Amino acid sequence: MAPLSHSGQPRRLLARVRDVMAGHRSGQEQLDEITAIIASDLVAEVCSIYVLRAGEVLELFATQGLKASAVHRTRLRVGEGLVGQIAAHARPLNLSDAQGHPNFAFRPETGEEVYHSFMGVPILRGGRVIGVLAVQNKTRRLYIDEELETLQTVAMVVAELVASGRLVNRDEQRPADGIALLPLRLEGVRFSAGLGMGQAVLHQPQFVIRSLVAEDPAEEHERLRRAVADMHGALDDMLRAQDLSAGGEHRDVLETYRMIAEDAGWLARIDEAITGGLTAEAAVQRVHNDIRARMSQVSDPYLRERVHDLEDLAYRLMGHLAGPDVPQVSSRSGESLPEHMILIARSMGPAELLDYDRTRLRGLVLEEGSATSHVAIVARALDIPVVGHVHNVLDIVEPGDTVIADGQSSQVFVRPGEDVQQAFKASYKARQERRAAYAAVRDLPAETLDGCRVSVNINAGLLFDLQHLDETGADGVGLYRTEVPFMVRSEFPDVASQTQIYAKILEQAAGRPVRFRTLDVGGDKDLPYWSTEREENPAMGWRAIRVSLDRPAMLRHQLRAMIRASAGGTLSVMFPMIAEVPEFLDARRLLDLEMERARDQGTGVPETLNVGAMVEVPALGLQLPYLLPHVNFVSVGSNDLMQFLFASDRGNARLADRYDTLSPLVLEFLRTMVAQCDTAGVPIALCGEMAGNPVDAMALIGVGFRNLSVSAPFVGPVKSMVRSLHLGRLESYMAEMEGSTKHSLRHNLRAFALDHGVII
Ligand code: PEP
Ligand code: MG
Repeated sequence: MAPLSHSGQPRRLLARVRDVMAGHRSGQEQLDEITAIIASDLVAEVCSIYVLRAGEVLELFATQGLKASAVHRTRLRVGEGLVGQIAAHARPLNLSDAQGHPNFAFRPETGEEVYHSFMGVPILRGGRVIGVLAVQNKTRRLYIDEELETLQTVAMVVAELVASGRLVNRDEQRPADGIALLPLRLEGVRFSAGLGMGQAVLHQPQFVIRSLVAEDPAEEHERLRRAVADMHGALDDMLRAQDLSAGGEHRDVLETYRMIAEDAGWLARIDEAITGGLTAEAAVQRVHNDIRARMSQVSDPYLRERVHDLEDLAYRLMGHLAGPDVPQVSSRSGESLPEHMILIARSMGPAELLDYDRTRLRGLVLEEGSATSHVAIVARALDIPVVGHVHNVLDIVEPGDTVIADGQSSQVFVRPGEDVQQAFKASYKARQERRAAYAAVRDLPAETLDGCRVSVNINAGLLFDLQHLDETGADGVGLYRTEVPFMVRSEFPDVASQTQIYAKILEQAAGRPVRFRTLDVGGDKDLPYWSTEREENPAMGWRAIRVSLDRPAMLRHQLRAMIRASAGGTLSVMFPMIAEVPEFLDARRLLDLEMERARDQGTGVPETLNVGAMVEVPALGLQLPYLLPHVNFVSVGSNDLMQFLFASDRGNARLADRYDTLSPLVLEFLRTMVAQCDTAGVPIALCGEMAGNPVDAMALIGVGFRNLSVSAPFVGPVKSMVRSLHLGRLESYMAEMEGSTKHSLRHNLRAFALDHGVII
């Protein structure tokens, strides 16, 4: 049926609500009048406002249409009933037959059984639900989009009244009440390792929006236009100020962010909200609430991360709208910030982090985010520990509290006692000493006491990882994961941009060898701009070389870019997840075609070409003698190899300790592969996480590996181990254990290291 008409003038409704709120009556009286105004404007028989109280309970605070005796009596838990569902998901509901909805909870005291259609929206403040606003009608009808929009806009204005503390005490709206002053240990997820202690600075850039309802929309459109231009100018200045040599990838992240700032859809929606009657600030907030609510339902982590970028931009835009005179809640630089600070935020965009004085930043704690979020990438580049997914931390921590962010163990200590602070100081000191010891071996070769040289390389994925080459004294890049720069971009890079990426990597490596691995995407490593089907078994699914061979143009573009980037120099390229020799030959053929093309077109070819295969699938490890005549090197990817050898998901925490990389079986398998490579004169390396653990690295050297590639923080530990090892003694010790059927030889190898003064 046709929608019941409403005034179609959200601006008029907003103005009426604003007038009520500007009056001098009590909060309750104002709320009562607002429900009456909304009901009449939307031609609804019922309009009710529920307010969130302590204990996650939504209480009916005002109603027009339901029984007056239900006010302050009807209460629903978050998640209970339709109102509870709206609060739980922070999303609107629009139903023509509310009573037919599985979550409908009948409350006889309200007399609502005669109303069939229902439309409710969350009342949001600072991204949190603080209440629910709902309208109902007797007829079965779906409310139209404009009505929903209007209700959401009005909810924003009502939020001011609910959050004002005039209806319920503000403290009731703080979920973590009661434990606020006790020392706490909070669990999170590691986004960046490291350890830091400092005073909490809450990053809650809430602007006081002085006026929600626009007097003159044309003026508001103009203010928005000016603020957007100012924001773009300021972002450009910030981009220019970024030190290119310190990390171009970090700059790429910021450039992607700059592109989001130009997003026409986002800006158009803000304009629409202004047309609907809001001031420019309120329109920015309104659109942002909406995006957050919609995106909270999206499971794709990359897309969810973009919400944080948009949030960052929304605050930035509000800052420009407010002008220089309006202070932000958290000032970001200057004297007011503590000397050692731990920044606490719900989420953050990369540019916001850079607004803070980095010499004072000791750590970052986030309620949301992921290790691949832009802010985490930038924080790692700045060597700041980051713990993410720390539930409700903003409600628990008070500004100025002492906080320890322990990225290594993914924990946050809030208001730690003296004992914990002492322990922190001891581990921090030990960490600094270890760092100093690693720095001392930086320029010394990784050579055993009996003169065996081992090449220690880094695994990298972003350009700024390359700075670790100098910092750690690594020999080169043993694994460059090319999918990483693809994942931080908003679209598939073309040949020219790929060429630029690879050329920069080679330039930063400054002559040290770099092994590029072709794309390892698909399975669970989705690219944001490329949708693939969900698979039952993504790790064993359509990924890596399987995708590349099925999409030869994509692989050829990648190889073309690598060839161009290394023209006149050396190109080392390896293919991931090869399972059989013909697969390698097919990939190699595409490389040969690209070499031919580059010669024909005169775009330059590398002087030296090294082509390798990664051994990650056990089947390939069993065919090495057939593969070796075709390759210049092989590199063992122990992360995947282990999961396939033991049929044990590498990402499943429950299985993490079930099988050991130092099982005799693994060592035997690796020893055989090394021997086959030695016989064929083909160099073999290992580039999985295993090589970064000094005991494992020692065992790898014991079975014959002379080339390891590890994450940058492990170069120092592995080098120190190598320099304290007598290889001859280790080899004899390991020979005695051959043929063992134990679960693991870790215990024995540790004992050997301790007995022989090997630093592990
Ligand atoms: C491996 O599997 O060991 C490896 C180095 O590749 P990735 O971790 O990128 O799968
Ligand atoms: Mg792998």
